[in-house]
Amino acid sequence: MQPVATDPAGQTFSDQASGSQHFSTQSLGALAGIDPQKLAQLAQKIDLPALLNAASGMSAAQLGQLSGMLAGQGGGAAKKRELPAPNGDFYSVMDTLSDRQRDIASRVRRFMETEVAPIMNEYWQRDEFPQQLIPRMRDLNLMREIWNEDGSRTPDASVTEGIIIMEMCRIDVSTAVFFGVHAGLALASVALGGDEAQRAELIPRMLDMDLVGAFGLTEPEGGSQVSRGMHTTARRDGDTWVLNGEKKWIGNSTFADVTVIWARDVADDQVKGFLLRKGTLGFHVEKIQGKIALRLVENGHITLTDCRVQEADRLQNANSFRTTADVLRLTRAGVAWQGVGCAMGAYELALKYAQTRRQFGKKIGEFQLIQSHLVHMLGNLTAMQTMCLRLSGMEDAGQMRDEHAALAKVFTAARCRETVALARETFGGNGILLEYGVAKHFCDTEAIYSYEGTNEINTLVVGRAVSGLSAFV
Ligand code: FAD
Repeated sequence: MQPVATDPAGQTFSDQASGSQHFSTQSLGALAGIDPQKLAQLAQKIDLPALLNAASGMSAAQLGQLSGMLAGQGGGAAKKRELPAPNGDFYSVMDTLSDRQRDIASRVRRFMETEVAPIMNEYWQRDEFPQQLIPRMRDLNLMREIWNEDGSRTPDASVTEGIIIMEMCRIDVSTAVFFGVHAGLALASVALGGDEAQRAELIPRMLDMDLVGAFGLTEPEGGSQVSRGMHTTARRDGDTWVLNGEKKWIGNSTFADVTVIWARDVADDQVKGFLLRKGTLGFHVEKIQGKIALRLVENGHITLTDCRVQEADRLQNANSFRTTADVLRLTRAGVAWQGVGCAMGAYELALKYAQTRRQFGKKIGEFQLIQSHLVHMLGNLTAMQTMCLRLSGMEDAGQMRDEHAALAKVFTAARCRETVALARETFGGNGILLEYGVAKHFCDTEAIYSYEGTNEINTLVVGRAVSGLSAFV
């Protein structure tokens, strides 16, 4: 049996020496055509004397092939191989979508790559949301892919929204958060908590993005426990309500036209929703400064001081925290998809970097330890994608329960955190520079990890469901 060697690219070559074991004139001629510069480059990578020694025992045909290889003209192995383009959809998740959904995904991808990517680092540094993107998002008409005019959801809303969020986060998580707060939390509050008149007034304008929404639930002293300990109060006074309290972290609230504020009615102790219009007296928003994540999102610290809201602006069908929880349930799958998109972007950036960055005379992607990083990232990403696709399918079929969404949030946030860390590591020092892209994903993951239910709280939700035992204090 012939000895068979396998090169790292998987090609095999066996020694089928048949005739002459000596250099022929023809092969010597071919060797004379070798470019000395290329030879010098080759000498850095392989042991040339050992190669020549081996070559002395080769047949004329084999030498011809070798000389061609060295001259960069010959057979397959020496040809510059095209490296595969980074692709974060390893299990072809896109193939399972409808043509319409694929079209939406490619529209969002184009928008993100051509309109958001060129400006995002500048706005990251300015700690500001580029509001000029709002009319451009309106042109994409994404809202009506998810919502109908009457406030009901389109039949495949969860999967479609998930794909939109994934594509946005692949480039920039902040853009997806702006979109998610408006199209998810704020719009869902009106759709689920508003009466017919409120829905008719607000939903078409929110779908057109003529009117931007925000969602104010969290308080400085009430994060995870906000359902049990809401300090913001609402007191009815004839045809108006008087609101007092503070809300923290409220995305889009520095420029939103309508902010939904959740407050406890002092009369019956129930949580109710109120529509706070921009410019209302006693409604003050301060932009939170110094964030290390989602710097394009403008998070506000809201103070409500004897702020008067008309009864007509109280969400008429939101009479307890149950509605607030319904809104959060509707948006939680979307947050899990944020982790998918963020990990996808980081993985693709890291892979591209590994294919081009050179150290020790090789592309760093040729090092086994770097390949281990890439495969680890891809495994995480693929598991996250397929999990979220199933989760959203269940939501669209009306089968998703709280614990299903909570598990996806726990899993994707944790795997995303691990993935972006490996991606950042793959970039070495450049990984902490904004211009290389991965640092933004690395930082943004920290916000994903903590909002819409922290890891601990979502874990408790799943633990309670599977064990039948509540570990909540
Ligand atoms: P805390 O509740 O104080 O938690 C601190 C730590 O204690 C966490 O690790 C938590 O898991 C742990 N912990 C708490 N209780 C338990 C328990 N029972 N068992 C075990 N561990 C526990 N809110 C809005 O209303 N609207 C928004 O638009 C909005 N946007 C946001 C954007 C960003 C960037 C961020 C960071 C937050 C945003 N939030 C928003 C708020 C977000 O939902 C809260 O930060 C989140 O609910 C956690 O609350 P907290 O930060 O007060 O943490």
